[in-house]
Amino acid sequence: VLTTVIETDVAVIGAGQAGLSAGYHLRRAGLAAGSGFVMLDRSPDPGGAWQFRWPSLTLSTVNGVNDLPGMEFADTLTGENPDDVTAAEAVPRYYQAYEEKFDLQVRRPVTVTVVCDREPRFRVEADELVVSARGLINATGTWEKPFIPSYPGAETFGGRQLHTKDYRTADEFAGKHVVVVGGGISAVQLLDEISLVTSTTWVTRRKPEFRDGSFGPDAGRAAVAMVEERVRAGLPPGSVVSVTGLLLTERLKAARDRGALERLPMFSEIVPDGLRWADGTSLRADVILWATGFRSALDHLAPLRLRGHGGGIVMDGRLATRVASDHRVHLLGYGPSASTIGANRAGRAAVAELMTTLDIG
Ligand code: FAD
Repeated sequence: VLTTVIETDVAVIGAGQAGLSAGYHLRRAGLAAGSGFVMLDRSPDPGGAWQFRWPSLTLSTVNGVNDLPGMEFADTLTGENPDDVTAAEAVPRYYQAYEEKFDLQVRRPVTVTVVCDREPRFRVEADELVVSARGLINATGTWEKPFIPSYPGAETFGGRQLHTKDYRTADEFAGKHVVVVGGGISAVQLLDEISLVTSTTWVTRRKPEFRDGSFGPDAGRAAVAMVEERVRAGLPPGSVVSVTGLLLTERLKAARDRGALERLPMFSEIVPDGLRWADGTSLRADVILWATGFRSALDHLAPLRLRGHGGGIVMDGRLATRVASDHRVHLLGYGPSASTIGANRAGRAAVAELMTTLDIG
């Protein structure tokens, strides 16, 4: 197999919201797409993880997709009813138009398998391609790393277990008893949908905090600041919802009123036909839906040994995108920048700092 080797200043790994924002700012900093910086993405098409979202996630049920710099999301929408437009169609369409407008020359599908430090350069290895770069912007998101906690007996369960990543539609669960595990937004949204077609049980580790009324910018800032503090201290980022609480939308109020948001504490064991709690109670279940979140997809960076004693990576820089132990590496979409608005801002801050570190411009 012939391996192509590309030399560049900056390798951007991942072309979701975070990678695209970085690409935009790298161009503005005077680097040429495809030579001054190179963008690699493993997915078959533009759209980051949005291309894989379940079909019932529409523009009226997403939290909101922030505009990328230099082009509005609304410009790529065609006036359809937001209830009818799936995020999996609309966001990829936007990202594709964005890549074209700014000629970002994303190479795909290219899966980066490993990154090694060959000081002063990094060797970024992918299938049939090696990129040699002076700086690294990693923006690989979390979609590739679904997280399922381990419970005794999980392998004995006779029903179906799936993670939110594999969820498509509530209809496939008709007639089954579905247990939804997890206290985040995905958990309650899926619980709402599934409880309209079949019986459900909700299980969470902590008692969920619901927030009535709108989620203002102050609360948003406070939540981001908490996560930022964690990554600056080298702790794993943690979930934003644990800080913000769940917004009680009209749909969720209706779900609550029909009893779908009654919640049980975590079970202690999984048995062939269901679940068992420490106090001896049990529940029959056909399906366990793990809405237990994602972790950062950083396995390919393992040789760089970025993780410290706190279990996370110590981050610094203006928006905590920079790896404290190696300023040539920025992580976008990690911790405080794991939202579409956070990813945008992080792209700008990361590029400005990386240009200084690499002495460009
Ligand atoms: P991604 O969109 O995941 O992009 C990462 C890219 O990296 C992908 O294209 C992937 O193919 C690529 N990649 C991964 N590994 C490799 C590799 N080894 N080599 C090469 N390429 C690789 N945020 C909001 O702000 N608003 C919302 O409404 C919202 N809704 C959400 C709903 C769900 C169900 C989930 C799970 C998340 C949601 N988020 C939302 C959070 C959302 O994921 C982020 O806001 C944002 O889209 C993430 O962008 P990203 O660029 O960091 O990652």
